[in-house]
Amino acid sequence: MSRVLIVGAGLTGSLCACLLRREMQSKVQIVVWDKARGAGGRMTTSRPPDPSCSSVDLGAQYVTATAAYSQSHHSFYSELLSSGVLQPLDSLIEGLRQKDGNKDFMTPLGMGSLVKHFLSESGADLFFEHHVTGLFRRGASWEVQRKAGGSETFDAVVLTMPVPQILQLQGDVGQNVPGRGPSLVVHTSVPFGVEHLEKEKDDVQPIILQELQKLLPDLPEPTSVKCQKWRYSQVLTSVPDCPGQMTVLDRPLLVCGGDAFSHSNFDGCVESALSMLSVLKSSL
Ligand SMILES: Cc1cc2nc3c(=O)[nH]c(=O)nc-3n(C[C@H](O)[C@H](O)[C@H](O)COP(=O)(O)OP(=O)(O)OC[C@H]3O[C@@H](n4cnc5c(N)ncnc54)[C@H](O)[C@@H]3O)c2cc1C
Repeated sequence: MSRVLIVGAGLTGSLCACLLRREMQSKVQIVVWDKARGAGGRMTTSRPPDPSCSSVDLGAQYVTATAAYSQSHHSFYSELLSSGVLQPLDSLIEGLRQKDGNKDFMTPLGMGSLVKHFLSESGADLFFEHHVTGLFRRGASWEVQRKAGGSETFDAVVLTMPVPQILQLQGDVGQNVPGRGPSLVVHTSVPFGVEHLEKEKDDVQPIILQELQKLLPDLPEPTSVKCQKWRYSQVLTSVPDCPGQMTVLDRPLLVCGGDAFSHSNFDGCVESALSMLSVLKSSL
C-alpha cells in the first residue's frame, strides 16, 4: 500500500485527501500533517477562551461561486449544501460589486467546518503540531523531517502550504452558536499590512483597536481580543505555467499545490486539489 503525506490541513490539503480516498479507497494510506494546533489554515474558525463569546472566522469569510464554477464544481457545492456546511447568503455584502450569475454562500458553523467536512470524509491519519522542516530523497521514497525532531518516510508527498513556506523547507525540494455574544472581526488594508508586517503583534494591536474605537465609539469593551497576522494572505499572481500544481519530481513523487497555483478562493483550492489528484492517480 502506498503511503502519501499531505502537508497542510487547509482546504486544498483536506480536499485533496478526501478526493484521493474516494478515488483509491483502501489502496492508499493517507497521512495529513499540519504545524498548527487545528485544521483550517487560512479558513480557520477561532473559538475564544470565554465560552460566552461566539466563534469567529479569522481568514476567509464567505464563498463566492461564479456562474462557470457553479457548473463545473457543482458536485462540491451540492455536497456542501446538502450536508448543511454551506448555506446561500442572501444578504448584501457591503462594498462588494455584485456580478451577474455570482452566488454567495456562508458557513453556519464557520469556514473551518468546510475544511473539517472534507478531512473527516478522507479518513486520513491526521496529526497536528507536525511542522515539516525538510524533505530528503531516499531512493524511491521521501524522508520528511519535523521541527520537533524525528522523521518519517513516504512514497509520495503533497505540499499545500503557501509557496514562501515551501521555499523555506530544507533538503531536496529546491533542487528539483446562538445565544452567545457577538464576535467582531476587523481586517486591515493591504498598505497597513505591508507597513506593519515585521512589527510585533502586541505593538500593532493597539493601533487597530484605536482605529476601531474611532469608527465604532459605542462598542463595548471586548471580553477577549485576538490579533492575527497573515504573513501569507491571498495570492496576487499565481505561479506561472503551473495550472493547479507543480510536479517537482516524478519518482519519488513530490507535488506542490494550493491557491498559489490557481487563485485565492474556494474554487482555486478545488482546481488545485483536482489537478494534484490526477497526478497522484497516474503515479501511484
Ligand atoms: C484574510 C483573508 C481573507 C480571505 N477571504 C476569503 C473569502 O472571503 N473567500 C474565499 O473563498 N477565500 C478567501 N481567502 C482565501 C482563502 O482563505 C485561501 O485561498 C484558502 O484558505 C487557501 O487554502 P490552502 O489549503 O491552499 O492553504 P492554507 O489554508 O494556507 O493551508 C496550508 C496549511 O499548511 C500548514 N503549514 C504551513 N507550513 C507548514 C509546515 N512547514 N509543516 C506543516 N504544516 C504547514 C498551515 O498551518 C496551513 O494549515 C482569504 C484569505 C485571507 C488570508
